[in-house]
Amino acid sequence: MEGSATADLIYADNAATTRIDDCVFDAMLPYIREEFYNPSAVYFPAQKCSDAVEKARNIIADCINCLPEEIYFTSGGTESDNTAIKCVSVKDAGIVTVKSEHKAVLNSCLSMQKNGCSVYYADVMRDGVIDIDCYKKLVTENIGLASVMLANNETGTVQNISALSDIAHSKGVFFHTDAVQACGHINVDVKALGADMLSASAHKFNGPKGVGFLYVKKGTPIKSFVVGGSQENGLRAGTLNVAGIVGMAAALKSNCDNLNKNTEYISSIEKCFLAELDKTGLKYMRNGGGLPGLISISFPGYDAESLVHRLDFKGICVSAGAACDSRQTRISHVLGAINVPEEYAYGTLRFSFGKYNTPEEIKKIISALTEILSDI
Ligand code: PLP
Repeated sequence: MEGSATADLIYADNAATTRIDDCVFDAMLPYIREEFYNPSAVYFPAQKCSDAVEKARNIIADCINCLPEEIYFTSGGTESDNTAIKCVSVKDAGIVTVKSEHKAVLNSCLSMQKNGCSVYYADVMRDGVIDIDCYKKLVTENIGLASVMLANNETGTVQNISALSDIAHSKGVFFHTDAVQACGHINVDVKALGADMLSASAHKFNGPKGVGFLYVKKGTPIKSFVVGGSQENGLRAGTLNVAGIVGMAAALKSNCDNLNKNTEYISSIEKCFLAELDKTGLKYMRNGGGLPGLISISFPGYDAESLVHRLDFKGICVSAGAACDSRQTRISHVLGAINVPEEYAYGTLRFSFGKYNTPEEIKKIISALTEILSDI
């Protein structure tokens, strides 16, 4: 019963998390079962585990064009963001970030603010793109760190990170980007982006949950976030999640090796969804856009939470606003920052498609949506 329900399920919430690839699961399995050793142990069997971790570090470094020693393994995007924001040693200097950042960044900034650090929030425009004049005014010599996300998790808006990091560097400011939604989905090259630090999370690119990484450019003054043992060069203590790290590398490599093919396919799914939606004649407004497959749509006069539940009853998983906020019915800070009119904002759904979605699923979603919206 449960099995058949799952088989019919349409999952269109890939920005919340993604299905693990079969090749990722296969790569992880030996490190969950027989190769269970602590990679820090000195005996021979443990060597296989530390070798697997270093191989994974090399693969990930290759995927984002950095040195393996610039990759630090973490428990995911939230920890990577916390580390980047809280642990860069820039004494008495302020932070510049953006109003539409993920809560992992915003709440890290808030905790810095509570400790006496000045934090400035740049505005975004109606399309979600950062207001560059506002950003330029805020990034001064008194700032230590600027943090701007690469792709927004609610709207898919992609920022021009290389231009923003150039501005930061011209003022001697370190630059961090939260690339959690982007990594494995669009080309992420830390050199081209000009990032000093970059956060990523495996479960957003068909890898396992609870593992991610933080890229830290050599020479960036960073303190440890999690203290304890001397793992990860003393920056992040704790026994390494070997299976998770191996799975993350396999997932990122598979997505990067197939980036063009996946982008083309997911973009065709996005196009199909919008074309089918247009055919219905429903009134809607699209917010942002840019990251393939992430579509934020506002239906005026509807309550998104009830739409999510009604779609759920029809076996369709979508999200109202960010996944982390999905239990709250207030307008998300991102929709607020881009000034979506209130009557539209309350009816905002996020459809996020991935490589496993099909055109048949799109047709089913649109037909369910039409039925639900005409019934309310
Ligand atoms: N940053 C962004 C842009 C995200 O979308 C998310 C997750 O939704 C995170 C950070 C947090 O990542 P994690 O779930 O790995 O802690």
